[in-house]
Amino acid sequence: MPAPLRLRLDGDALAQNWRTLDRMSGAAACGAAVKANGYGLGALEVARRLADAGCRDFFVSNWQEAAELAPLDLTVSVLHGVRDEDMPAAAAGFARPVLNTAVQVARWKAAGGGPCDVMVDTGMNRLGIAKDDVAAGLLDGLALETLMSHLACADEDSAMNARQRSAFATLAGTTSARRMSLANSAGITLDGFAFDLTRPGLAVYGGIPRAELTGAIQPVVTPEAQILQRRRVVAGESVGYNATWTASSDTEIAIINLGYADGYFRGFSDRGSALAGGKPVPVIGRVSMDLLAIDVTAVADIEEGAWIALDFALPDAAALSGMSQYELLTGMGARYSRSWS
Ligand SMILES: *Cc1c(COP(=O)(O)O)cnc(C)c1O
Repeated sequence: MPAPLRLRLDGDALAQNWRTLDRMSGAAACGAAVKANGYGLGALEVARRLADAGCRDFFVSNWQEAAELAPLDLTVSVLHGVRDEDMPAAAAGFARPVLNTAVQVARWKAAGGGPCDVMVDTGMNRLGIAKDDVAAGLLDGLALETLMSHLACADEDSAMNARQRSAFATLAGTTSARRMSLANSAGITLDGFAFDLTRPGLAVYGGIPRAELTGAIQPVVTPEAQILQRRRVVAGESVGYNATWTASSDTEIAIINLGYADGYFRGFSDRGSALAGGKPVPVIGRVSMDLLAIDVTAVADIEEGAWIALDFALPDAAALSGMSQYELLTGMGARYSRSWS
């Protein structure tokens, strides 16, 4: 069934962004984080396109996400490691775990191991084993592919970045790991953080976590929705829930098929903007769950059924809405059709 809202996805921009990040990674290989359904774009399509562009290392959160990619026969690492419940999936061999805890390491060894990655904590205190446990030999006997850690503040100029880098660098040569990996998208812009493999997510999808990437990274995603109704609002009348917008003069508005349940969050109320018939138009009133209103007074000939493109340049959209670029991408729900060009 044709959906009344769609994501226009630019496959060339996606591939180009990855190539740019690959180049910026220097001698290090460049992978891609495709967790959370490829940051909302559709993991299977994203991974297929990045594999065609030359990407060889993919990162997902859990085994459900890994199973979805199994038909593509890629090298997939599962960032959350392996629970008892995951062992049958892990044994099937379509992905390998990133072991995060001593319990996971023991579980993997007891099952006979096989290739794995390991996350070590260097100060974020999210997932990962302690550096001391590495020194104490916890990883001995593992078929360790990639030793990795994760940066807490790479999108800021924080002293923590250098602290994490040095903590990670001291592990070089102390394990049997074939490769070391530290940098996410923002980390790729920092000098000396690439090690052997980088793991960008956000910037592959058009997000810009640091100013260094402005201009180098292209937008990939444009949400579009159809006009359901065009109406005239006379001066003094209001629009939408809680009547937050009142017409100061007679106004032509269009109600379009998109709302906060589609990740067009309420922070865009009275602040967002769109392109209607090639002209910039403002969002007016509160964003509803499934609908929003735009002022189309300046666009005489746009009618029911016409498609409207929302302005969704990620850094601007994040600043306007008060959401992070990550939330904007991953919030785009299941009601869109996704159409790649
Ligand atoms: C999500 C994630 C990434 C990608 O981070 P971005 O900021 O989106 O580039 C890399 N590594 C790990 C461990 C992650 O969880």
